[in-house]
Amino acid sequence: MSNSYDIIIVPDPVLKQTAQPVSKVDAAVQKQMDKMLATMYEAPGIGLAANQVNLLNRVLVMDLARKDEGEAPTPICMANPEIIWESEELSVMQEGCLSIPQQYADVERPARVRVKYLNREGKQDELEADGLLSHCVQHEIDHLNGVLFVDYLSSLKRNMMLRKVQKLKKQMVL
Ligand SMILES: [Zn+2]
Repeated sequence: MSNSYDIIIVPDPVLKQTAQPVSKVDAAVQKQMDKMLATMYEAPGIGLAANQVNLLNRVLVMDLARKDEGEAPTPICMANPEIIWESEELSVMQEGCLSIPQQYADVERPARVRVKYLNREGKQDELEADGLLSHCVQHEIDHLNGVLFVDYLSSLKRNMMLRKVQKLKKQMVL
């Protein structure tokens, strides 16, 4: 059995669906988290949500460590993440997505958020995030709600990006 998942690329209905909460973080969910991390590192990316690997439970993984610059890994695994506070202050950052390869655009989001979740050990945990981590966790939670970063853009810009991905798909001769 492979140690990583295939990443779903747009357009695909699974990316538009709402993922369902896990009842608990059992061995199967832990295994899923580990395999999602491996998939994300291999891509490489800094975040991955269950929808992107064709699973519809509320699980996401992130790691912002710069491995290429020798930083040690800092994996974060979340089940049932929930934003319990967000700042009024907003932040604009360029985002990309493993499901929308090679496309990037500025996205505006609350600058800081506090997120409640179950960690890999199944314990209730909280994360307060700003900067890139804040954008990343909001982007991944959006995935679990069937929302993509291109949904925040004008339809003109969104369609242009989606067409570019179709072209890329053909060039890669899948
Ligand atoms: Zn994404």
